Amino acid sequence: MKVIQDKTPEEWKKAVPVLEDLTALRETMWRNPRKRPAEQGISACSLGMEDIRDAEARLRRFAPYLARVFPETARAGGILESPLREIPSMAEALGVKERLILKCDSHLPVSGSIKARGGIYEVLCVAEKIALESGMLTLDTDYAVLAEPRFWELFSKYTIAVGSTGNLGLSIGIMSAKLGFQVTVHMSADARQWKKDLLREKGVTVIEYAEDYSKAISEGRRQAEKDPWCHFVDDENSKNLFLGYGVAALRLQKQLMEQNVPVDEEHPLFVYLPCGVGGGPGGVAFGLKQVFGDAVHCFFAEPTHAPCMILGMATRLHAQVCVGDFGIDNRTAADGLAVGRPSQFVGKLMEPFLSGCYTISDEHLYRLLTLLAEREGIRLEPSALAGMTGPQWILHTEAGLSYQRQEGLTDKMSDSTHIVWATGGSMVPEADWLSYEKKGKQLLAEGQ
Ligand SMILES: *Cc1c(COP(=O)(O)O)cnc(C)c1O
Repeated sequence: MKVIQDKTPEEWKKAVPVLEDLTALRETMWRNPRKRPAEQGISACSLGMEDIRDAEARLRRFAPYLARVFPETARAGGILESPLREIPSMAEALGVKERLILKCDSHLPVSGSIKARGGIYEVLCVAEKIALESGMLTLDTDYAVLAEPRFWELFSKYTIAVGSTGNLGLSIGIMSAKLGFQVTVHMSADARQWKKDLLREKGVTVIEYAEDYSKAISEGRRQAEKDPWCHFVDDENSKNLFLGYGVAALRLQKQLMEQNVPVDEEHPLFVYLPCGVGGGPGGVAFGLKQVFGDAVHCFFAEPTHAPCMILGMATRLHAQVCVGDFGIDNRTAADGLAVGRPSQFVGKLMEPFLSGCYTISDEHLYRLLTLLAEREGIRLEPSALAGMTGPQWILHTEAGLSYQRQEGLTDKMSDSTHIVWATGGSMVPEADWLSYEKKGKQLLAEGQ
């Protein structure tokens, strides 16, 4: 029998009970036994609030440029941000009496997914470094000059490469091509056709793989290493990507204040984040812990067929394990989450911060997709619904009630707020979306 590190799969199941549910592809919730008070986690961490503020400042420097080249962002002054929207009718359908809010990253400008945070930020980091070193830009220049042809010429000598299941490729591709970089996107088998088509339209080189995301990323990395003029956006390890996501926390804090939603010891905030390799949800959760400390409780959501982060964190094998080692197939309609091997960097960094993770079946994603459209008129892609069962896990299951007790939250729950992070969807073509909706409708009618 196959041995993973020092144990057989059967020995692992004895040592880490959640593996029983994971291998049976049952929806389940895992609580992180290594969560610590936020203060302790923060002081032990190599990254912190300063890094997030630095990222925020960089995005502000680029805002005039973004406002110029993406006119749809001009009204917001070139700051790419998404709406925060209460969804009371959906809450009613889910039996959730507490305040339920959708963070609509599905509607982020430019690339229509959470990747418009990290992905675009990393490309801007690369562009800024090149432009500063060239002497053509200084930190206090108005960055709108970057839209001039001389910068296009400068950037066109460089290539930006990335491995992606789709959305990261979209955001890196669109941003890089706009600046003038050459771009290569290594796409895994799960990537939707329309995402590849859209990128090719923008002049991006798309290389397709018959294998999954881990293959696309390792092959991309290998090719990029041979080329000194190529920057590889490393979704498994990039700190810049992570910090770009982290800025969301500062923006969310402001939005919650504007909407008079209190977050403090008496008003706990629960946030449910769909998780693939981990960078997006990890960056956001990391930022939220810096901002709200122990008042925020972050949970990751993964498909039952691709629970790589639970697997990595629960076994502490992180990137040394993949779902295939336990016979799990990594086949899911949630293409943004179709990742078999988690980020080591994110899994380790999240150890003191994360409250837990849970899984969700594809059928459940489709049902929720249709229900949300009916109830609130909001269209998401399947991956983006993974957060939607979080409130029910916390409020209505034994695992959730026990989490509440352990954290001393039981009598505060009526004052709690629950944010479901909707990570993508606004760019899905009409025909694709209607086929998702139809599937959800059928499943709802069948009562599954
Ligand atoms: C990429 C993605 C995620 C998860 O982000 P990771 O950094 O891969 O964990 C979630 N939802 C959607 C729609 C995505 O595209």
